Amino acid sequence: MVIKKIEEKQEVSRKSVKTPQLLRGFRDILPSEQAYWDKVEEVAGRMANDYSFGRIRLPLLEQTSLFERSIGKATDVVEKEMYTFIDPSGTRVTMRPEATASVVRSYVEHGMVNKSQPVKMWYFEQMFRHDRPQAGRYRQFWQFGLEAIGSSDSILDAQVIIMCHRMLKELGISVKFLLNSIGTEASRREYVMELVSYFKQFRKQLSEVDKKRLTKNPLRLLDSKEEGMEELRVNAPQILDWLDEDSKQHFMKVIEYLDEAEVPYELSPHLVRGLDYYTKTVFEVVEAGDEGEKAQNALGGGGRYDTLVELLGGREDTPAIGVALGIERIILAMKNQGVELPKERLIDVFFCQLGDAARRKGLVVFEKFREARVSVAEAFGKGSLKGQLELADKQKAKIALILGQKEVLDGTIIIRDMESGAQEIVNIDKVVAIVKRQLEMMG
Ligand code: AMP
Repeated sequence: MVIKKIEEKQEVSRKSVKTPQLLRGFRDILPSEQAYWDKVEEVAGRMANDYSFGRIRLPLLEQTSLFERSIGKATDVVEKEMYTFIDPSGTRVTMRPEATASVVRSYVEHGMVNKSQPVKMWYFEQMFRHDRPQAGRYRQFWQFGLEAIGSSDSILDAQVIIMCHRMLKELGISVKFLLNSIGTEASRREYVMELVSYFKQFRKQLSEVDKKRLTKNPLRLLDSKEEGMEELRVNAPQILDWLDEDSKQHFMKVIEYLDEAEVPYELSPHLVRGLDYYTKTVFEVVEAGDEGEKAQNALGGGGRYDTLVELLGGREDTPAIGVALGIERIILAMKNQGVELPKERLIDVFFCQLGDAARRKGLVVFEKFREARVSVAEAFGKGSLKGQLELADKQKAKIALILGQKEVLDGTIIIRDMESGAQEIVNIDKVVAIVKRQLEMMG
């Protein structure tokens, strides 16, 4: 009776166990997708190193004030999207929503101003934004970023754009850049006054969100996606007409360099980007077929941030430029544009075993191949030779090794050429060397 009750209880509790689900906006990147991730990371890292950018790995948590001060309090990211909490020691901390602020903090904190300028760094890190999830927009996502701090030369603006172009091209994606200049803070002040007086005429037509922007962050009216804004924007004053001479010259040079390097771009007078720290050049990169300003899912974006170092307590007049590319969006674009990568890792050798003694011996042989850096797969969990050979075939192995009871006793192993089906028996102690030689010959 007692036992029955216990069993009943266990039954009930088993039924009530629910598998915890992924959080909304978060995702697993499964082994079948790794080929894309590996490829993007490899190309990005190689590109950055080729252009003398050094890798920086950043902490995931920072003091909240870092982002409030740099990104700006009236921006969507800081107002609505940050994962902020009080840590056990009572500090207000935030899971980074972007990395430029952290890179600059690091530049200042480690006195990199004393190194030869510009200091060039790259990162490949996760970001967190509590945004509304949709296709290509997640709450945890990855960015590859480049930052060059300590030079105002427009050739650096061009260089980071050219690097993104080359990298995306190598990944098989054709893209174009949307470019604008938002000048210096001083030149922008006058322009913003003009912009506010323009939009004030239409105050009644503005949505609540845009009314708030009109007082708090008027530049954002230019890239507002609210209904009716597209028409209102057509006659809005354009920032390019208000640029100071220095910003104008700077921008012209960037364009000249891009022409020289044959990078496809469009001027995009309403592009302002969402973060407060930008100055002069701003840009986004979108898939080549996207409709310029209407493109919602940019692959990346960046610009100059000539005042950020000073704002975070570094030396006055330390200009900088950077870019961040979204890895999930790059992978989506690769798939969109038909770039195919093998789903499974291709291997050279597949190890088949039959019977317990062979499996035991197999562990040792497998390890020898691994040490010799020959890519070898196995299916120790499988019993039948047929099943194992099918797997070898599926994984496109060039050679299968077969170890059965008899071979274990004889100290031999069978080498099978997967293409021709030809088999030979060799001494097990020599198998690694023989297989290596055969693979070299197969090329
Ligand atoms: P931002 O820092 O907002 O300029 O973003 C730079 C790039 O990061 C964007 O162009 C996207 O490719 C990517 N990105 C930004 N937010 C998200 C997100 N929520 N989910 C996925 N990718 C994102």
